[in-house]
Amino acid sequence: MTCRSCGGEDLAPILSLGSMALANSYLRPEQLADPEPTYPLDLVRCRACQLVQITCTVPPEILFRDYLYLSSFSTTMLKHAETLVTRLVAERKLGPGSLAAEVASNDGYLLQYYVKAGVPVLGIEPARNVAALAREKGVRTVDEFFDAELAARLCDEGLAADVIHANNVLAHVADLNGFVEGFRVLLGPEGVVVSESPYLGEFLRHVEFDTIYHEHLCYYSLTALVNLFRRHDLEIEHCERIPIHGGSLRIFARHKAVARPTPDVADLLASEQAWGVDRDEPYRAFAAGVEQVKHDVVTLIRSLRAEGKTVAAYGAAAKGTVLLNACGLGPADLAFVCDKNPLKQGRVMPGVHVPIVAPEQLAASTADYCLILAWNVAEEIKREQAAFAARGGKFIVPIPSVQIA
Ligand SMILES: [Zn+2]
Repeated sequence: MTCRSCGGEDLAPILSLGSMALANSYLRPEQLADPEPTYPLDLVRCRACQLVQITCTVPPEILFRDYLYLSSFSTTMLKHAETLVTRLVAERKLGPGSLAAEVASNDGYLLQYYVKAGVPVLGIEPARNVAALAREKGVRTVDEFFDAELAARLCDEGLAADVIHANNVLAHVADLNGFVEGFRVLLGPEGVVVSESPYLGEFLRHVEFDTIYHEHLCYYSLTALVNLFRRHDLEIEHCERIPIHGGSLRIFARHKAVARPTPDVADLLASEQAWGVDRDEPYRAFAAGVEQVKHDVVTLIRSLRAEGKTVAAYGAAAKGTVLLNACGLGPADLAFVCDKNPLKQGRVMPGVHVPIVAPEQLAASTADYCLILAWNVAEEIKREQAAFAARGGKFIVPIPSVQIA
């Protein structure tokens, strides 16, 4: 095993979550009789380029075979996308002669706002069922994996992007250098790559261990991103911290020759040095925090069950799978997990096999407590589940520390 970014061999162990089922492999009832594959989940840090990463790579054709995540199911995500597009169209004066591309464009949740603004778009989304949904919205979408080769083919067709969006995808890419090289090839001379990834600083501080799963290969500091992009003659010109997904880092990268870095880049790099991005201590503290959260969640739920209370959960997303599996919480502890995605309803959570139902069932049930697994959108869930609260239901938020609200 060598570093996914620089190829270095000095990988410092941070945490092991053991061997776990794939976080997004929601099983149909008829699949319960079949063996469920598990894969190791071990987090390490490269001491050369500081990239935090997991060691196991599950082949993408297994991981993404049955992809059920649709960005448009979250109103928070839609609002976030619309705000970002409005800003870029104004700042970069984009119009009918421009091209806005997005890699991992999902169901067109973001590019649809460029279409509305009259800016030509190109979505790149390998999940065919999801790419088809984007096309139904009028979002031009290629259903292939993005890499330097696809970028070169698009470039040969005369395409050069004024903006390339890459939201929450860099963390998922096995061939990191091929991917970032693809940015360099597809990006027009004055273009900008706008990429958002969950930020390592928040991940460590808020003990977001439930975002460790097999699809999520890398956990980025700005230090690690600068090292990665520079290898492909791209310079990070600006960076911003944003609250989405429990704390993310948005970077703006351009060709080295035209990039004019803002002071924010140097400031964040200095702050990472100050908290110890390249030292073992912050990662040891994180691992201790994970053990504490697991202990507190299990103790609370088992004591509520012992009092005869019924506990349900909300959010059949990957982080929910990880939290339930890491804590060993199954159908004896949780009555069901609610989720808005109709493709998940009727299935069970990977590994622990808690059934997934529609959100309307929470208020209609006799559940006393609801464990919010999708804690990053806890406020949205509480608003939508006002009827549950009105009949006396209480919410439990597990991360960064267990709280009843
Ligand atoms: Zn490295």
